[in-house]
Amino acid sequence: MRDNKSLVGDKKLISEAEKARKNAYAPYSKFSVGAALLSRNGKVYTGANLENSSFGQTVCAERLALYKAVSDGEKDFKKIAIVAPGAEPVTPCGICRQALFEFSPELEIVCANLKGKVKKYTLKQLLPHSFKYEKRKTKKRSFR
Ligand SMILES: [Zn+2]
Repeated sequence: MRDNKSLVGDKKLISEAEKARKNAYAPYSKFSVGAALLSRNGKVYTGANLENSSFGQTVCAERLALYKAVSDGEKDFKKIAIVAPGAEPVTPCGICRQALFEFSPELEIVCANLKGKVKKYTLKQLLPHSFKYEKRKTKKRSFR
C-alpha cells in the first residue's frame, strides 16, 4: 500500500496551485500567482499573491503558503508547485527562495505556466551560496 506522501504528485500539486491562484489579490500587477507547498507529512498548503496599495506589504504566493504551513506547525517540506501566466513558467523571487531555504534546503520546485509547460528545479539550483544564520561565538563585553 502506498503511503499518503506519494499520493501527491506534480500534477496534483500544480492543480492545487492553479486553484489557489484564483484567490490571488493582484489588482496592481494583474499577475496572479498560485502556489501549493507539500509538507513531508503529506499535507498541502496553498497560497496566492496578495498585493497592497503600499507595495512593500505585498506577499508572494510561495511565502503565503509557507507562512500558513509554518503557523500550522509544519517545518519540513518536500516540494512546491508554482503556477503563473506567461510564456515560460516563473520561478520564485529571491525573497521566497531564501524564505523556503530556511526550512527545506532540499526543496523540489515545480514551476508551471497556464498552458501546461512545466520546469523543475531544486532550491539549491535556484539559490546557490544561500545564507544561513549561524550563531557565532562572541566575546563577552566588559563594561568596566
Ligand atoms: Zn516571492
